Amino acid sequence: MSVSGRRGRRPAAVLACAALLLTGVLSGCSGSSSSGSSGPSGRAGASRPAGTPAPSATPDDAYRRWGLDKPLAAPPAPPAKKPVATAGPGGTPPIVRRIPTNDKVVFITIDDGAEKDPEFVKMAQDLKLPFSMFLTDDIARAGSGYGYFDRLRALGNGVHNHTLSHPNLRTLSADAQRREICGQQDALEKRFGTRPALFRPPYGNYNDATLTAAGGCGVRAVVLWEVTMQINDMRYQDGDKLRPGDIVLAHFRGPGELKGTSMTKMVTNMLRSIQRQGYTVARLEDYL
Ligand SMILES: [Zn+2]
Repeated sequence: MSVSGRRGRRPAAVLACAALLLTGVLSGCSGSSSSGSSGPSGRAGASRPAGTPAPSATPDDAYRRWGLDKPLAAPPAPPAKKPVATAGPGGTPPIVRRIPTNDKVVFITIDDGAEKDPEFVKMAQDLKLPFSMFLTDDIARAGSGYGYFDRLRALGNGVHNHTLSHPNLRTLSADAQRREICGQQDALEKRFGTRPALFRPPYGNYNDATLTAAGGCGVRAVVLWEVTMQINDMRYQDGDKLRPGDIVLAHFRGPGELKGTSMTKMVTNMLRSIQRQGYTVARLEDYL
């Protein structure tokens, strides 16, 4: 995998911090170098906005803590030109199941928003795991509410639209679909200050009215998936292994829905499978 772009800037910073450590002066070495473990470790794929918290451990330690045998490889630099053309204002959004790329990357998407496991926030932070969230208002709002997703968003992960109440849109009138989709566009914009660019219809069910409604309220692309995360491994729509650019569907779920398995364990299983197949995880919004 090529070392370029954002990734290429890290070694200098690491060396600088290592030098400061040797002279007993440590300041300004945020995040991964704070315990003195140096080296070009960790993942550079997650661009963390300025001012967000540093990881709680060095990436070298972190991957082991979360059950991985090796760190996730840094993804290649994002493509200069995004390989999918999204809709212009008011245009009909394209349906995207997979990103056309030769990069050995896949994209993690996590839906609904039921489980709000604080351990997953730590995991996402430690591993700098990029993923995109598709939130349903009724489900995400329950319990401790959207605040949980603020924390994941602060790590650089995008929040997108998965309707107000998770209906099968194909059973609804055009007006009702518009209320479900545009209502959640408005709710998420009000809550997070950004109008989502991406929309995922519940169950992957949509029709022409869905696309018209979504395009009409600012959706730039409809995102489906090629691979589904199960509790222990992945299920493929096509074939029996990952392909470059696959979009992986997972859910915010906890032990009640995962036969006792925690969300973090499920994600570990997913990441181990991704690594075993020679892939790493990139950020969907960098390609779409
Ligand atoms: Zn859903």
